[in-house]
Amino acid sequence: MFRKILIANRGEIACRVIRTARRLGVATVAVYSDADRDALHVEMADEAIRIGPAEAAKSYLNIAAILDAAKASGAEAVHPGYGFLSENPAFVEAVEAAGLVFIGPSANAIRAMGLKDAAKALMEKAGVPVVPGYHGEKQDAAFLAGEADTIGYPVLIKARAGGGGKGMRRVERPADFGAALESARREAESAFGDGRVLVEKYMAKPRHIEVQVFGDKHGNVVHLFERDCSLQRRHQKVIEEAPAPGMTAEMRAAMGAAAVRAAAAIGYSGAGTVEFIADVSEGLRQDRFHFMEMNTRLQVEHPVTEAITGLDLVEWQLRVAAGEPLPKRQEELAINGWAFEARLYAENPARNFLPATGRLSVFDLPDGARIDSGVRAGDLITPFYDPMIAKVITQGSTRAEALAKLETALEQCRVGGVTTNAGFLARLCRLPAFAAGDVDTGVIGRAGETLLAEPDAPEEAFALAALSALGFLGAPADADPWGEIRSFRLWGEAAQTVFLDHGGAEHALRVTTLGQDRFRIERDGLATDIRLCVSNGRSLQVDLDGHVLPAMVHSERADIVVFFAGHSHAFARAEQASHHGEAAAGGDRLSAPMPGLVRIVSVEPGAHVAKGDPLVTMEAMKMELVLAAPRDGVVAAVPVAVGDQVAEGALLLALEPEEAA
Ligand code: ADP
Repeated sequence: MFRKILIANRGEIACRVIRTARRLGVATVAVYSDADRDALHVEMADEAIRIGPAEAAKSYLNIAAILDAAKASGAEAVHPGYGFLSENPAFVEAVEAAGLVFIGPSANAIRAMGLKDAAKALMEKAGVPVVPGYHGEKQDAAFLAGEADTIGYPVLIKARAGGGGKGMRRVERPADFGAALESARREAESAFGDGRVLVEKYMAKPRHIEVQVFGDKHGNVVHLFERDCSLQRRHQKVIEEAPAPGMTAEMRAAMGAAAVRAAAAIGYSGAGTVEFIADVSEGLRQDRFHFMEMNTRLQVEHPVTEAITGLDLVEWQLRVAAGEPLPKRQEELAINGWAFEARLYAENPARNFLPATGRLSVFDLPDGARIDSGVRAGDLITPFYDPMIAKVITQGSTRAEALAKLETALEQCRVGGVTTNAGFLARLCRLPAFAAGDVDTGVIGRAGETLLAEPDAPEEAFALAALSALGFLGAPADADPWGEIRSFRLWGEAAQTVFLDHGGAEHALRVTTLGQDRFRIERDGLATDIRLCVSNGRSLQVDLDGHVLPAMVHSERADIVVFFAGHSHAFARAEQASHHGEAAAGGDRLSAPMPGLVRIVSVEPGAHVAKGDPLVTMEAMKMELVLAAPRDGVVAAVPVAVGDQVAEGALLLALEPEEAA
């Protein structure tokens, strides 16, 4: 085994690798960019070395700087994590040329699977079924449109170098093909530096089922069963599980054998995943699964496989890279129970999943689940990297038990300061189709808008926000949270009114002290009586008419976040509320929701636009954001140009005032 390894990554995966290395007595070296100087992975590692500025291209993708760090630290091997350089064959070669071990497959194996088109051709030859479509060299638009006609609509355009759903466009009809192709190419060019695409038949009712494989340097390959990753949004995985619901022993054997054949065909060593798409319009059928691609690295969702097999896949990676044979043979592997993983993102589901940035004022995740995270309270979520902030993993002896635990765990995720998808994830757990195991990649899309919107704040949340605003809950940093309440009580039964912003409207709340730690809060004629039972810093227990419930309130400057009954609700003190976000989104102005690059400006001053028309396309956090007209009107000014780097809140476009339009 190695004595010291360098982890060429950041965030949760760097932390996760460090944990296993530590358990095995392997010293760890972290690398970090300027944006990550105080990051958790830096704190956790035995040593850490700066590799460059915040932009990934100059730090986590900077091969020379990473190799310098490896040499300076005396590391013997490099773990790439996922993303960044993990599937870059040139990196593998550079690591090996420096006399170090790459913890992963050979450069040749990565190359063979690196491009979706070449991989499909290779798999076809190895007798693995592939998705019907065009995966050849020709790239001119007219030719590809012709291929799409031959395949039959709907089709899926995919970047050959793609990953994470980027550069992928589903096209319903021939008239939309040209625009979709251009947009896919643009995204692929910017994300991967390769705009070439393939065109595939879009499956009617597809399920994403992938098989975890492992090879060693002695020619052994095994599979560690399947994961179902069908719960997706815009082709990106949201919740994963293992095993796959409804999987039969025969189909599992057939998919496992195909995956092992795929890995063996390229002399694979280390952890890999063979992704299949199954057409389930007539249920799971052995003759209806097709190879999509192979990921030649550890996957984000590997913990669900660890949960059902009882293995540590990072340990296997280290052992195999160090030259040991696979720890177990195929017949020694078995599935035990069920596991789920949900990806917790800093993003706003109600605003088309716009990535969110900001400081995590509260980051309190539940104990009843495995939490893989790379952040802690107080950390800044920057626009530089992937906005995933944690993975929540649960396990049970049955699917229903594991899912119930996931729902509970998600309801207990308390994150403040940055909007997350926690509520959305919890609502997904309650979808009848998902709960029944009737999954396909369209489940989220069909469930519609109700999934996206946070429920209205209940009166109890208003009441707690009002108590916080008036100082009854104590300042967060206050050593004695009861101090203010005691002093207040000297005033007797005084009533006060406080104004709070919530959901874009201002609310007046009247708070009356009824007695020791007892309050009545009135809003719009509704009264809520609350008794504070336990207050332990921000965590509270409140008595609502005899029903004692937990709650948590965090306040920082004008902002107040109330966590109550599985939801978080944001309020702001009305007098001091900072309106910049809302004002920028309103009537006449289109502002940048986050820092990014202006990619397309679709209109000029004087143009008449209709509400919903795409006006400016930005690229931020490696995604395309299309900013649409907030209302009908006439464009007054466009102060930005294609190629401009803009700050959050920057004015992108102004409409003429309503009266003039
Ligand atoms: P990426 O590498 O960008 O993640 P994949 O090829 O793995 O792209 O596909 C991502 C997801 O897109 C799949 O999990 C599946 O939901 C969907 N998908 C891919 N190919 C097809 C297809 N031919 N028909 C329908 N859905 C597809």
